[in-house]
Amino acid sequence: LLIYCNGEYVHKSKASVSVFDHGFLYGDGVFEGIRAYNGRVFKLKEHLDRLYDSAKAIALDIPMSKEEMSEAVLETLRKNDLRDAYIRPLVTRGVGDLGLDPRKCPKPGVFIIAQYWGAMYGDLYETGLTGVTVSVRRNAADALSPNIKSLNYLNNILAKIEANAKGGDEAIFFDSNGYLSEGSGDNIFIIKNGKVYTPPTINNLKGITRATAIELLEEMNIPISVENLGMFDLYTADEIFVTGTAAEAAPLVKVDGRAIGNGKPGPVTKKMIKAFEVITQNTGTP
Ligand code: PLP
Repeated sequence: LLIYCNGEYVHKSKASVSVFDHGFLYGDGVFEGIRAYNGRVFKLKEHLDRLYDSAKAIALDIPMSKEEMSEAVLETLRKNDLRDAYIRPLVTRGVGDLGLDPRKCPKPGVFIIAQYWGAMYGDLYETGLTGVTVSVRRNAADALSPNIKSLNYLNNILAKIEANAKGGDEAIFFDSNGYLSEGSGDNIFIIKNGKVYTPPTINNLKGITRATAIELLEEMNIPISVENLGMFDLYTADEIFVTGTAAEAAPLVKVDGRAIGNGKPGPVTKKMIKAFEVITQNTGTP
């Protein structure tokens, strides 16, 4: 496996980062998760736009243009002969000293890791995932907005640990005001009486799969409303699905021990999974 490291493609055994890189010392950096299906990169522009926006929000200047980054992503796939892949571009603050001042880090680090990737949840697309609401809160919009896809994912990791301890497949976050936020690595949609609801992105990542799902629902003439939701809405939903680059569209059939609907993936969720499969297999940057 060849990894893009600051302009060079190096074997994975040689791909390393300095212990003085502030990405390592402080989680000071940003990243993306992108998929390639059938030799085409899905929503490449949207992911790179978000990467550069995340970087801008933490005042990190990515030392290459979006066009160069795009070419580096595609070249990483070509060099590794990958057609179905998960791609992880990262930009770190770069090497500095032990202090946290980013002015000591003259050169950001740019890395792209790509590897083969298939369906993340296997049979669970048919049978459904179980969700666990977690006590750790997702930030609402402040300087550390969840809109920033930063290298500091401790919040999400704590949520995952809590879900693991309770035997659930995915953690479900609320924010400090009690509004439904998202999963540890995906956005959330609930269906009630034939209508789909998803929270506004003030307290969650502006998911690219989320945006795609909203477009697909509109194309299928299924009503969709973006509004604040609470725990009650979650527990009493007829159906729930989550969306993310890694997870794609996946059904959630149980939350905190409560069956969602009849405890099986519902009709809207099934339509979404199918529509998402069609769009990912048939669009993207070659
Ligand atoms: N929420 C979080 C916290 C994530 O890490 C991700 C994954 O990228 C998502 C949501 C889903 O976003 P996307 O659909 O852009 O992958």
